[in-house]
Amino acid sequence: MPAHTHCRICKQPLPAPFLDLGAMPLANSFLSNASEFAAEEKYPLAVAGCAECGLVQLNFVVPAEQLYRDYIYVSSTSDGVKRHAAHLAETLIAQYGWKPSDVICEVASNDGTVLQAFKSRGVKVVGVEPALNIAKIAEAAGIPTIPEFFNPASAATVLEKYGKASLIFGRHVFAHVDDVHEFFEGVKLCLADDGVFIIEVPYLGDFLEHHEFDTIYHEHLSYVSLTAMEHLCQQHGMALVDVEHITLHGGSIVLHMRRQGVGTPSARLQAMLQHERSAGFADASRLSRFADDVRAWKVRFEKLIADLEASGASIIGYGAAAKANTLLCFCPGAAKPFKYILDRSGHKQGKYTPGTHIRVEHPDHWKTEPRATHMVVLAWNFKDEIMEQMKAFREQGGHFVIPIPDPTVV
Ligand SMILES: [Zn+2]
Repeated sequence: MPAHTHCRICKQPLPAPFLDLGAMPLANSFLSNASEFAAEEKYPLAVAGCAECGLVQLNFVVPAEQLYRDYIYVSSTSDGVKRHAAHLAETLIAQYGWKPSDVICEVASNDGTVLQAFKSRGVKVVGVEPALNIAKIAEAAGIPTIPEFFNPASAATVLEKYGKASLIFGRHVFAHVDDVHEFFEGVKLCLADDGVFIIEVPYLGDFLEHHEFDTIYHEHLSYVSLTAMEHLCQQHGMALVDVEHITLHGGSIVLHMRRQGVGTPSARLQAMLQHERSAGFADASRLSRFADDVRAWKVRFEKLIADLEASGASIIGYGAAAKANTLLCFCPGAAKPFKYILDRSGHKQGKYTPGTHIRVEHPDHWKTEPRATHMVVLAWNFKDEIMEQMKAFREQGGHFVIPIPDPTVV
């Protein structure tokens, strides 16, 4: 497997990782039965920060074909995603004034949930989605979908079949892309001259401030800042023009880019860039402080779980998300007492978590006896939604544990 010795944006040599989580299994490789446990494969998982452009990144890359061709995350399983899709479609159509003739292209469009929100507001849509099983679901729901990775070849297909796109956007995909230069070439090929390219990515600032180390997994190659994206845009004749900082997934940015000379940088973009520079996000000292914070967090989390167990608590989890698997694999001692993990995805129920081999169950499973006393909300980025859905658990005496940013019993 290829180790990256150079930065994927600026090609300068990468320094040693500031945080090494050790060898871990792929965070979405759930196991079907116990006979698979022994042969489970693990890969190095460590992050380094480029001193030149500021991109924080994994230095080992698992091939994309291995990660995404049969992918089990389906976005419509989350109510939060549907609400967010409506927000995006509403605000972006108002900001850019797209009409029924405008083409909106989503990269990694999943089951088409987000494009549905645009389609229902009267613009043309097309998705590009490499997971063949999920692209079929989108097509069946009436969202035209090209079953490919986004690159110059699939961008040419978009151009040929649908024409130039007024908007190309990718939600939580750009950080998963290894060859970001090829991705930008694809964008430039099918983006209208006055079009906008928007990515939504977890934000490095939130990652650092809120100890979000559990968002580190093999699929998540880049931990994005505006500063790093500015370097990348400059190499491709593009420019940052606007940014919205949102709370989704522990803090993300919706970053707007256009061809150089089209549009001017918004005040909120300039303010955020200025903040990044003064806070020194990618400085070795800042990244090393983050690694210290993560190690201190691990001590607190393990102590909390050990204390609960010693007091006779019965512990389960909620949300068998990729981040849950990083967190549990990083704290194997704390993972041991988990009896099972609840998850709404029928694709995961009955399977076992990678690395820690905890069984995934239907959300109603908490009602089986003996009852659990503590539910660790591993998908903490949806904690409000989950605690609302699971309020019967609390009403009947259960407690929630929120692990990130600081382990807390609610
Ligand atoms: Zn770099």
